[in-house]
Amino acid sequence: MKPHTIAMFLIAWSGATLACTPSRESGATATPARSAADPEMTAFIAKIRTVDNHSHASSVAPGDSDQDALPLEVLLPFEVPVQLRPDNPDWLAAYRAMYEYPHSDLSDAHMSELRGTMRRTAQERGDTFPAWVLDQVGTEVLLTNRVAMGPGLAPPRFRWVSYVDALMLPLSTKAEAAISPDREKLFPLEDKLLRRYMSDLGVANLPATLDAYLKTVVTPTLEAQQRGGCVAVKFEAAYLRSLDFEDVPAATASRIYVKYASAGEPSHADYKALQDFLFRYIAREAGRLGMAVHIHSFEAAGNFFVAAGADPFLLESAFNDPALRQTHFVIIHGGGVYASHAGAMLWKPNVYLDMSAMTLLDTPRKLAEVLRDWLTQYPEKVLFGSDAAAFGPDMGWELAAWIATRNGRAALAWALTDMIRDGEVSRARAEEIAMMVMRTNAGTLYRLELK
Ligand SMILES: [Zn+2]
Repeated sequence: MKPHTIAMFLIAWSGATLACTPSRESGATATPARSAADPEMTAFIAKIRTVDNHSHASSVAPGDSDQDALPLEVLLPFEVPVQLRPDNPDWLAAYRAMYEYPHSDLSDAHMSELRGTMRRTAQERGDTFPAWVLDQVGTEVLLTNRVAMGPGLAPPRFRWVSYVDALMLPLSTKAEAAISPDREKLFPLEDKLLRRYMSDLGVANLPATLDAYLKTVVTPTLEAQQRGGCVAVKFEAAYLRSLDFEDVPAATASRIYVKYASAGEPSHADYKALQDFLFRYIAREAGRLGMAVHIHSFEAAGNFFVAAGADPFLLESAFNDPALRQTHFVIIHGGGVYASHAGAMLWKPNVYLDMSAMTLLDTPRKLAEVLRDWLTQYPEKVLFGSDAAAFGPDMGWELAAWIATRNGRAALAWALTDMIRDGEVSRARAEEIAMMVMRTNAGTLYRLELK
């Protein structure tokens, strides 16, 4: 999910004086541990420089409008869970760690002092601010999911993950948008992004045939993204439809495309069939171009999100498509409430998952249990991720990155400690797994040259 999109909602809250208890110095959360994490394992994991599989880092450009294809502030207001509210002690802990905030409360006077420090730090660091953030949180490489990269987000430390849902939506989306008040606001943003992709290619009008659309819009856009440094493309389709992308014959898709390319409203069934075809085409092309395919799988966000439509089991037919076995899929946010379903998909040779957003929304203890389940099965396919994004003026992406990275390290230490104590893995193997999850699995998947 994209937490920054709730910014305005949170800003409204932040005016209130918040009673906040300081976070424990240990770096763990307030969740009582059933067993303490092994101190050596904790220390080992603390030193690992991570590869963060998923974030929406801000560039240093004023306004930074390329941060998101579907900025969810258009869905406001919607209620956010406790972890994302400004009075969650995690934010105070992050202020202290990142900006040497000396106070243990969030009074108006102290917050205005903090805002001054944050502004000064950003100004003084300039273009190097994002890299400074990575140094602070111990991240070597951050994958950042954006419409386009921007100043301050240069490779090799920042790697681009683009958005491709718009390419799946060439026909009128009016009927699709009418399905819910949320979708009514989201579909026009996809229409706008497709027009931007077409304009980047100098294509003024939608081509008359599906074949021409694939050859002059879809493939050239993906090729341009790959040339632009993209390591993966991202589908946030779960905000717009369910994830059951069926195998639709090209002839069927072509017929639907031709019928509605110039005018008219496709039926939901027809449009779904065309989208299904395009999803698999895009996934196949991404694989050919060496880019992974990221798919949002989590039970939020918004007032009308359909959680059942984000179940990773719905992707099974696409994962099982022999024509897509050259494509690496990554289930982003680990399936959320469907974490065990995401884990079951790891049997497929080309499927991975990450823990992003879970590192912000779950307690480390709860995440540890999820991780343990995954790590006992396919430790080479589990990736660390934060979903760091700007939540609002007092909740920048750098603070979210700090919280999520701290939580991810704590959860992993707990999971591996339990596995050692139960005799499931040796200490040496546990350290190896820690390194894989926090760093080298992603390094291998994206062919990164890590230091
Ligand atoms: Zn995200």
